[in-house]
Amino acid sequence: MTDLAGARRIVVKVGSALLVGPSSSEKGDGADRHWLAAFAADLARLRARGQQVLVVSSGAVALGRRRLALPKRALTLPEKQAAAAAGQSALMRAWEEALEPHAIAVAQVLLTRDDTEVRRRWLNARATVETLLALGVVPVVNENDTVVTEEIRYGDNDRLAARVAQMIGADLLVLLSDVDGLYTADPRRDPSAEHLPRVARLTPQIEAMAGGANSAAGVGTGGMATKLAAARIASAAGCATVITLGHRPSPLQAVEDGERSTIIEPSTTPAAAYKAWIAGSLAPAGALVVDQGAAEAVRRGKSLLAAGVRRTEGRFDKGDAVVILDEAGHEIARGLVRYEADDATRICGLKSAAIEAVLGYTSGPLVHADDLALAAHTRAQA
Ligand code: GLU
Repeated sequence: MTDLAGARRIVVKVGSALLVGPSSSEKGDGADRHWLAAFAADLARLRARGQQVLVVSSGAVALGRRRLALPKRALTLPEKQAAAAAGQSALMRAWEEALEPHAIAVAQVLLTRDDTEVRRRWLNARATVETLLALGVVPVVNENDTVVTEEIRYGDNDRLAARVAQMIGADLLVLLSDVDGLYTADPRRDPSAEHLPRVARLTPQIEAMAGGANSAAGVGTGGMATKLAAARIASAAGCATVITLGHRPSPLQAVEDGERSTIIEPSTTPAAAYKAWIAGSLAPAGALVVDQGAAEAVRRGKSLLAAGVRRTEGRFDKGDAVVILDEAGHEIARGLVRYEADDATRICGLKSAAIEAVLGYTSGPLVHADDLALAAHTRAQA
C-alpha cells in the first residue's frame, strides 16, 4: 500500500486559499511566503529521499486580482483570465523563491483539458513532464486559464491534479484541503460524523456521503465532491489519494506523523491501468505488420523498432493507437505509435540510427515498450 513515505512519484495539489491566505506574512504580491517556505522544506525532504514531486498550484487568479486591483465582486470570465495572466508570473516567482534555498529548480507547466485528453498533446505533455522529473525539477502545474473557455476547462485543480497524476503514472496524489479528510457526514454540522482514515474502495455509499451534506465542504472551487471525483480518476489510474488539511506549516510531514487524513486506495497499479487503457479503450487507427524477430521482441516486452516493421496499414497520426500484427495477420499487441503513417511507412525496415537522415527528426522506436499492451493470448504464451 502506497503511503507518503513509500510513494515513488507524488502529485501535490495546493489550493489558492493556502497560497494567498489572509496571513500576517502576506505582503507585497499577496502570496503567503511563510506557509510556502515551510511547505518547500516539506517538499525538499521528499526530494532528498529520492521521491519525485510535482505540484499543481492554484492562485493565479487570486494573485492577479490583487495585482490588477480588480473589484471585489465576482469577476467575468475575461477578467478572470486577465487576472490569471497577471497572477501566474507572481505565482511562479513565489514558488521559485520558496524552493531556491533548497537548490530545487521549478518549471512552469500550463495545461488545458485537451492536453490530457487529445492523445498527441498528451504524449507531448507527458514527455515534457517526464523530462523535467528526470532532471530533478519540481514542475508547477496550473490550468492555462488565459486560453481556456468555459466549455474546455477542467474548472478545478483537484481534477486537473488527478489527470496529471494519471498522465505521469504517479502512485500518490495529495489534495491539500481545508478539511482533514472524509467524514460520514459534515463534521461542522453533525457531531456524530466519523472520520474515515482509509477508504479501500470508492463505493456508492462513500460517494453518497460526499455528495450529500459534505459536498460543499471547503472553500475554493473544489468541495468534497470534486475531491472525490479526483480520487475516482486517480484510483482507476492506479494512484492512491490522500485528502488532508493544508493549513499547517508542513502538511506532508504532518500526515507522516499520523495527523488526521483520509487515504483512498487505488483499484489497480499505474502500469496496469495504462496498459488496460491502451488495450481496451482506444479504437486503433491502423496497423503495423512486423517480422518474426520484432514479434518475438514485442512479446518479450521490448520496444518495436522500425527495423522489424514490414509495412503499415491505415492513416494514423502520431500518438494514435495501432494494432501490431505478425506476418500471418495475428494481433500480438496494441500500442501508441510515435510517428504518423507516412513517416512510419518511410522508415519501415530502417535501423534506428538511419531514421533522422530520412525524416529530419527521430522520435525513437515506432512504439515504445511503455506504450505497448500485449494481446491477451500473447500474454498467456509469454
Ligand atoms: N487555475 C485557477 C488559479 O490558478 C484555480 C482553479 C482551482 O483552484 O481549482 O487561480
